[in-house]
Order: sequence, then C-alpha cells, then structure tokens
Amino acid sequence: MDNFEAELAALESQHLRRKRRIVAGPQGPHLEVDGRQFLSFCNNDYLGLANHPALIAAAQEGLAHYGLGAAASALISGHSTAHETLEQELAAFVGMPSALSFSNGYMANMGAISALIGAGDSVFSDRLNHASLIDGARLSRAEFKVYPHGDTATLARLLAKCQSPHKLVATDAVFSMDGDIAPLPELLALCEQYDAWLLVDDAHGFGVLGPHGGGSLRHFGLRSERIIYMGTLGKAAGVAGAFVAGSDNLIAWLLQRARTYMFTTANPAMLATAVSASLRIIAADDWRRQHLRQLGTQLRQALADLPWALLPSMTAIHPLMIGDNQSARALMEQLRDQGIWVPAICPPTVPKGTARLRITLSALHTSAHIEQLAQALSAAAVATTVVAA
Ligand code: PMP
Repeated sequence: MDNFEAELAALESQHLRRKRRIVAGPQGPHLEVDGRQFLSFCNNDYLGLANHPALIAAAQEGLAHYGLGAAASALISGHSTAHETLEQELAAFVGMPSALSFSNGYMANMGAISALIGAGDSVFSDRLNHASLIDGARLSRAEFKVYPHGDTATLARLLAKCQSPHKLVATDAVFSMDGDIAPLPELLALCEQYDAWLLVDDAHGFGVLGPHGGGSLRHFGLRSERIIYMGTLGKAAGVAGAFVAGSDNLIAWLLQRARTYMFTTANPAMLATAVSASLRIIAADDWRRQHLRQLGTQLRQALADLPWALLPSMTAIHPLMIGDNQSARALMEQLRDQGIWVPAICPPTVPKGTARLRITLSALHTSAHIEQLAQALSAAAVATTVVAA
C-alpha cells in the first residue's frame, strides 16, 4: 500500500480516522486535554492509583536506588532485586506458584502464546478477544479458530474435532470493550476435557475483581496447572508492565522461549518498586472496589431512560451502545462540548455496527461526577431527538 493520502481520506470519510489528543498533567477524574479541563471517563485507572503519592514515593525510592534505565535485557543484567521481589509478590497475589514480568501486556500475550504452541497446533479465540491475543496466535503459526463471543457450546464442538497435538484456548477475562466476564469455569472444564491450555488475559480484572482485587481466577475460585494467567500493571495497578503467572515449569519454560521477554530491555526497576507499593494498596483498600461498584449501580440507574442502552457489566467498564460510527462520534463531541470526555470506540476495535461510548469508572470518581455525566447524556439525547424530528 502506497497511496496513503487516499487511504487516510477514506478513513476520514468513514469517521474512522484516529487522532491523538494531547493531555497535560496527571491522569485522574479531571484531565487537561488540548488546553481544556474535562471531567474524564476515559482511562483504565480503575482504582485511582496512577497518581497515588505512595506509588510515586516508591518509584522515587526505586529511582534513587537503581537509577533510571535497566540498561540490559532481563537475561543479561536487567533483572534486579526489585523485579525478583515483584515477581514473587505477583504470583502470591493471584494465587499462582510463579510469575514472570513483561514490558507490557501486548508483549506478554505475544510471547506466551508463541512460546507454548506452534505450527500444527491450534488456538481457540473468543471473537471479542484483545488484539494482542489475536496477534500472539498469528505469530505462533498455529491454526487460528474463532468461536462466537462466550459461546462454550461452539468451542466444545471445535475442540472435540481438533486433532492438533497442542491446543490453547485464549480469552479476555473481562472483555476490554464490553466489560462482561468470560465464563472461565466452563472454559476451564472444556480445557480439562480436551487437554488444552487456558490463557486468561486479566488486563481488566486484575485489581478489580476477586477478594482484595486478586483478579478473575480468585473471583471464580479457579486453580489449575493448565491456566496461564496474564495480568497487566498499567490499568488498575496504575503503573506499567505486565506479568504471566502459572506453574513453576511453565514460567521456567517462558524464561527460555518467550521471545518478547528474552530480546527486550527490562523495564526500569523503579516501575517494579512502584508496582510493589501498588499491590499493597490494591489488597488493603477494599473501599476502592466497593465504591467502584456503587458508582456502577448509580450509573445504571441514572442512564436507564436514555435512548441508548448500557451493556450489562459488573466491572469498571460500562459501554453505552450507539451503533453507527458517525452517531457515536457525534455523541462524544456533544459531551466534549459540555466538558466531559468519554471516548467513542469504533471498528476495527469493535465489530462493525457496534460503535459505542466506552465509559470507564475510577474509584476517584464521585457520585456528583456520575450525576454530571447523566445530565450531559440526557441533554445530548434531547438534542439528538430534536434534530431527528
Ligand atoms: N489485553 C487486554 C484485554 C487489553 O485491554 C490490553 C490493553 N488495552 C492489553 C492486553 C495490552 O496491555 P498493555 O497495555 O500492558 O500492553
């Protein structure tokens, strides 16, 4: 493809051209974007930790102790005592024997999948899985089989007729653009029945679901040697990075074969010290999760009369289904005019015809913030109806 100008113009005309906004200052319920203040419902800082003083202090201590750059890959000399301690803490936090830290979730999924299966094997993927799971499956060169969202009956049929020597079922635990939770107990039962691995991407459940925020496996009380758990640290944990947790042997194998772990510079140790501090707050501050749930309930009640429906969700992600790209973008702009920032999510991030506003809540939002959002959406709904009439 070399006709960039025409291709970009085509994206523009379909309301699909993506643009970055420039944010000044830290993340939080209020955000300065392109020089204007907004009430924000657009980040994944679900517990409100991205700018927490204890995390900043821990990062500063890490910085003072280890310096800034890790300067080498983990297997050469980039793996510090801070990383080692953090891996042990992460494994214990999610109830797994071992963990390995990665630079980010995208690389963790790519590295784990391609280290576990290869040509001649099969990956089974929920239709709404995150891009990093799909790309990891493609990279592995295993046969890629998609099952309809949450459809365990179809998955069972696909598994039953699969002859591949190694099988892996990959799923978001909390679907990033839908906010619903995968049927993990049923998926694990199928993996047991058909001798498959289960890769659980808990990017949006870690810190939010389960007792003390221990994540989706703890939410369901699941444990198995077949589970490969992937958690990210740039969302509820408020920092950056990711980890894969599983059996001792699995993690030992990833250390030998996960190319996105082996051939990249380790994350700065100061991030590891910050995540360690974050884990302590995630575990201790149950009020953050309780408040998040109360805000979710309030949001559902406050938006009940709108012409658009919220998808069911018990997580921090509350998508408001709009349909076509242009209407979703227009609604986003109407909210922006009222000083509220909620992102419109359009294809290819979500299937065609399912453009939506992705409302994400944080423990730092207040009940008044939800009220303000509800009023702005009601005003937008009235304006839309008047235009339509
Ligand atoms: N998995 C899911 C489900 C995600 O939503 C994301 C990030 N949006 C990732 C993986 C990638 O994580 P990271 O941002 O750490 O690369």
